[in-house]
Amino acid sequence: MSFYSKEKNNSLFDIVIVGAGPTGIAFACGFADTKIKVAIIEKLPREVIANPKIDGREIALTHRSVEVLKKLNLWNCISSKSISTIKEARVLDGDSKYFLNFDHEEIEKDCLGYLIPNYIIKKNFYKRLKKLSNITLINKAECLSVHVDKQYASIKLSNGKKIKASLVVAADSRFSKIRSKMGISAFTSDFDKNMIVCRMEHEKPHQNVAYEFFRYNETQASLPYIKDQSGIITTATKDITSALIKMDNKKFNREMESRFNNFFGKMRLVGKRYSYPMITAYAKKFASHRFTLIGDAAVGMHPVTAQGFNLGLKGLKILIDEIKAAIKNKTDIGEIEVLGNYQSKLHRIAAPIYLATNSIINLYTSTILPAKITRQFILRFVNTVKPVKQTFLNILK
Ligand SMILES: Cc1cc2nc3c(=O)[nH]c(=O)nc-3n(C[C@H](O)[C@H](O)[C@H](O)COP(=O)(O)OP(=O)(O)OC[C@H]3O[C@@H](n4cnc5c(N)ncnc54)[C@H](O)[C@@H]3O)c2cc1C
Repeated sequence: MSFYSKEKNNSLFDIVIVGAGPTGIAFACGFADTKIKVAIIEKLPREVIANPKIDGREIALTHRSVEVLKKLNLWNCISSKSISTIKEARVLDGDSKYFLNFDHEEIEKDCLGYLIPNYIIKKNFYKRLKKLSNITLINKAECLSVHVDKQYASIKLSNGKKIKASLVVAADSRFSKIRSKMGISAFTSDFDKNMIVCRMEHEKPHQNVAYEFFRYNETQASLPYIKDQSGIITTATKDITSALIKMDNKKFNREMESRFNNFFGKMRLVGKRYSYPMITAYAKKFASHRFTLIGDAAVGMHPVTAQGFNLGLKGLKILIDEIKAAIKNKTDIGEIEVLGNYQSKLHRIAAPIYLATNSIINLYTSTILPAKITRQFILRFVNTVKPVKQTFLNILK
């Protein structure tokens, strides 16, 4: 990887990626060992990209995602010591002891999926990026605007520079400014709730089981990490989450013990608590001439089903394949025909997952009686009707 300098005549690229988050970097790695000239624009300084701060997100990854990461040579960059396995996932409703169960044996694998802290993913992705000679990182620079014409996309940066590319790929988060500047709006849902995430140590072992407790108007979840620690996730109204954030550590520990009905015995906070607003976004289109969206900028999922980055990886793999096929066929990679293929393939995968996730949240946070009855019925229905359960297992694979 090289760093941008005005001395070198490097203002023309094949692909410019906006945003060096996990999606932007993973996408760039798809062009390793090619002659394709790629630039990544990131507003953060390179020291921060190289040493990302802990953000409380524990990322659950599916087997399919791991396959994509292996192809991009990113999986082998992450030490196995930082990776935990999820053997089983249990979903419980209200105060009922009945649970919907997903077991690794049902997908004929030794685990359902893997768990890795987000900052470790980001740190190791950057290490890989640094080794790639055809990638230029333009850091401490915000992408201000993109103008497309027949031949190029021209990008204006906050450092006063202008660069050109055949294709601009926006990976600048679910709140993507470039998406709206390019005239693409998004369907957004504000659930008017926050999610508090933190790591906690607990007395009783998690046995590599992930739990999701759907209470009324709130959800409480745990993701099994290494050394009897779990990622603890509370989704609730802003009043409740702001009280949880401010609570002193001892009180917070007792509060979590009681919210988990002493399921884990004594619990102790490790590190800080982090809060995220529950706003989802689905772009009305994923591509236009010389411009496309990936990752959260295309589809920003609700984290409750842990599908956001998994979906991002599926999408970026489709786009990498379309671009490589276009180059092989000597087709312009900014043409809408090329990007349109990506758009329709991603939409087919993403729309059902996005809609199902939002419906699950609406139903499982509802306090009205018909919803409470339906919730119980659905858990039993999914658990016992094999084809329905298989549909869910296919998403988890
Ligand atoms: C609490 C929580 C838990 C989650 N758990 C899971 C999980 O278990 N499994 C899962 O699959 N997903 C999970 N996700 C989703 C996952 O974290 C996201 O899908 C993923 O981080 C998105 O990455 P991204 O690179 O698309 O966007 P981001 O990580 O938001 O990165 C965007 C980057 O763009 C940069 N940027 C923005 N604007 C500009 C600009 N104009 N110019 C230059 N740079 C710019 C930003 O600085 C940033 O670096 C979770 C999310 C949350 C909030």
